[in-house]
Amino acid sequence: MTTTAGLPDSTLPPFFSYQDQALHAEGVPLQRLAEEHGTPLFVYSRAAILDALAAYQRGLAGREHLICYAMKANSSLAILQTLVQAGCGLDIVSGGELERALAVGVSPDKIIFSGVGKTRAEMRQALQVGIGCFNVESRAELDVLDEVAREMGLRAPVSVRVNPNVDAKTHPYISTGLKGNKFGIAQEDVVETYRHAAACAGLRVVGIDCHIGSQITQTGPYLDAMDRVLDAVESIEAAGVKIEHIDFGGGLGIDYQGNDNPPAADALWQALLQRLDARGFGDRKICIEPGRSLVGNAGACLTEVLFLKPGEQKNFLIVDAAMNDLPRPAMYQAFHRIVPVQPRAADASSTVWDVVGPVCESGDWIGRDRELAVHSGDLLAVLSAGAYCMSMASNYNTRGRAAEVLVDGTQAHLIRARESVADQTRLERLL
Ligand SMILES: *Cc1c(COP(=O)(O)O)cnc(C)c1O
Repeated sequence: MTTTAGLPDSTLPPFFSYQDQALHAEGVPLQRLAEEHGTPLFVYSRAAILDALAAYQRGLAGREHLICYAMKANSSLAILQTLVQAGCGLDIVSGGELERALAVGVSPDKIIFSGVGKTRAEMRQALQVGIGCFNVESRAELDVLDEVAREMGLRAPVSVRVNPNVDAKTHPYISTGLKGNKFGIAQEDVVETYRHAAACAGLRVVGIDCHIGSQITQTGPYLDAMDRVLDAVESIEAAGVKIEHIDFGGGLGIDYQGNDNPPAADALWQALLQRLDARGFGDRKICIEPGRSLVGNAGACLTEVLFLKPGEQKNFLIVDAAMNDLPRPAMYQAFHRIVPVQPRAADASSTVWDVVGPVCESGDWIGRDRELAVHSGDLLAVLSAGAYCMSMASNYNTRGRAAEVLVDGTQAHLIRARESVADQTRLERLL
């Protein structure tokens, strides 16, 4: 078994491994994919995605449930197709995501529409196709949705997002269940909001939902949120409004460091279902909206080392991927492991590097203080890059977005071609 720069094989994400001194996704050597498609290149393992989904399916087996993949984590069509064919619904946050969802043939009644700022046009579009549920985040939004639905002679299926005021103990930018966040309706206003919704001719109350944040690595915040949501269900039903399904959102974290220990999805749901049963809600339909935990560790971004730039205070390793491809470090100071695709001999001398991209911003870094033995021209893999990377990628510095490959056993499918400059300027006009 290869050990590289202190990185034992066992800490690689599942379905990524060194075979004959070369990093593979399932049965495909990553060097070959980079030669064929160029870099930066996103590579995903289909088995890793399905394996992550299977943990949720095991956890919820025997219960009436719907797993809606939160597609903002990675909305590439072939990724959506993979999850939809495996039985998932989709959680969307825009009209654009609705169109992607329909393009992969998901049944509209398995679509949940989340987000604080839906436009009337988006509401109409979603009502037209008959989505399963609007997760509504404010009284004002309820009223507009009611009006839009009545104009169309329809009733919009709604769930109200409650803000359980629970600290998810994650990065402030991805914590969403606290009173200071823009998300959801405060607990003290929930019953009144449901009474109001139930009285609107254009609305049909179907559920309740919450989502407390992202990259959550502990079970406690989920149990707390579940308790608060169930308290709310009790009060709402005491006021005469029936709740059919309970949606606990997404947010389960993944192992980025190699030693983060988020609960496994099946273990998490075992604990949550116990609580649900103990409180007498075991027969309710459960919806969940996982994003990152389904795709995050299924993807890696391959990048080529362009230049070594040793310095007095810092050594910089300049690579061809940048913040426009991998925005998480710049946005959240997030950590991604970076490993060689073809490790150099164990006795090769390594240096501590800041791995940075070519973009003209000091915020354009991918990893800091990484010990690596590399030469220019070597390939590196930025791990755990399946979620919130490609879907957040931009064209800053007129950089085309990367290509994407989905590996399935020994097969590799190009699922997105590299974006050209012509693609980027297609909608622009000279004076
Ligand atoms: C982003 C989001 C999710 C998914 O979050 P993950 O951390 O990727 O699992 C689920 N529900 C809502 C409402 C979201 O905004």
